[in-house]
Amino acid sequence: MPLQLYDTMTREVREVFPMDENSVRFYACGPTVYGPAHIGNFRTFVMQDVFRRVLETSGHKTLHVRNLTDVDDKTIRQSQEQGVKLEDFTDKWTVRFHRDCEFLNLLTPHAEPSAVEHIPEQISLIERLIEGGNAYRANDGSVYFKVDAFPEYGRLSRLAEREITTSTTDRETSDEYERETAADFVLWKVRRPEDGENFWDSPWGQGRPGWHIECSAMSMKVLGDSFDLHSGGVDLIFPHHENEIAQSECATGKTFARHWFHIAHLMVEGKKMSKSLGNLHTLEDLFEQGYSAQEVRYVLLSGSYRQPLNFTFDSMKASRKAMSKLRDFATKFNFIPTTGNTLETEFGPFQPVQEALLSDLSTPEALGRCFSLVRELSEAYERGEYEGQQDAVSEVCRGFQATCDAFGLVVEPKKVDLVEIPADIENLAQKRWNAKLSKDWAMADQLRNELLELGWVVKDGKEKFELTRSAE
Ligand code: AMP
Ligand code: ZN
Repeated sequence: MPLQLYDTMTREVREVFPMDENSVRFYACGPTVYGPAHIGNFRTFVMQDVFRRVLETSGHKTLHVRNLTDVDDKTIRQSQEQGVKLEDFTDKWTVRFHRDCEFLNLLTPHAEPSAVEHIPEQISLIERLIEGGNAYRANDGSVYFKVDAFPEYGRLSRLAEREITTSTTDRETSDEYERETAADFVLWKVRRPEDGENFWDSPWGQGRPGWHIECSAMSMKVLGDSFDLHSGGVDLIFPHHENEIAQSECATGKTFARHWFHIAHLMVEGKKMSKSLGNLHTLEDLFEQGYSAQEVRYVLLSGSYRQPLNFTFDSMKASRKAMSKLRDFATKFNFIPTTGNTLETEFGPFQPVQEALLSDLSTPEALGRCFSLVRELSEAYERGEYEGQQDAVSEVCRGFQATCDAFGLVVEPKKVDLVEIPADIENLAQKRWNAKLSKDWAMADQLRNELLELGWVVKDGKEKFELTRSAE
């Protein structure tokens, strides 16, 4: 079953498949490394990671590129304000970003190009656009893209439907603009005093690239003129992705990306979580409040990527409970998680979870199905249906591993506690074991619950039982 995914360009749910019949090649706009990424940013990166995981757990190869935006208005302004060299400043935040990605169990992209390392590619792309009559040098010394030269401009963001017309007089000099005008936008910014040391030589004099051209140059460098899919948060649809399409397609005459995958925002009280609104949470903040990265990841998976997701601490608490249930299941089946870049592909009894994920990455539905299966399988286990059935237990564990791999969740069984077991607890557990041997399931269940209330979990082996402390 192939992955079906909503495509912003066609406004349809369409199959994702590799153009070259080998790997699905995709580009994700990466972080602007000027501060810690917040969990809103990570909603987008986690969903892109799930996209890749769903492809890989269904047998596809992928080529995943995610860039680092290490030169733009924001990185330059902040590094200047702090009196730090741009490179040192962005290095520091890149290290922090990588650390957070590791905490959240994000697969490492196959390539992570940085904008600063691709200035020559950006310059040559701008040269091609000038030669083709799609860009021009203005009186202010900067180079602009001529929006009117690309009649398709606005197709992704449906500018025409919103009755926004192109302006031939306006020009946009900043990297990010709120204004929904299709004005000529900047490709190369002439050197200004406030840029400090951050300028490069070019055929148009000293200056620096605009943000949009960076992503066009980096994606095409690594993935070629045309590739399978391009992704980012919904805020990037206009102008960033619209501009990337215009630049790239004018330069190559080819379709830039065949599929556009956008992730709706993480919100706080109805507003987008963002640095400028000051309503953000970072992973570190949540660690300080006692939450784990896995619990954060779970929250980010709990909503459909096509809808805004409201962040609340109640949802963090719910996520903690949900993760604890998964760990109980892992403990029961003696499941030992494997981690790494090789993902399990046999879903076995968990196939309904995979089907929900392949259907437009429906993570809430997939989690719902996962919990139904976890409950059913646990009940079957309690009834003794898995006793002596090592193959069946292994199949469940493999399916659970594939499920965890697709969600990117690492579910550790609850730790076997080496503390002394009080005699009365041992007695109760022995009574339960005897009840089980005599197939008095009701009594066995009742005693299991009594033990649970006393803070102990019984796990049955073939010949004997084991007692562990419950987590809460
Ligand atoms: P930035 O570091 O600002 O360049 O953003 C990195 C990624 O996070 C981009 O794909 C943005 O679209 C995305 N993003 C920014 N804010 C949010 C949010 N509140 N929810 C989801 N994604 C976001
Ligand atoms: Zn980008």
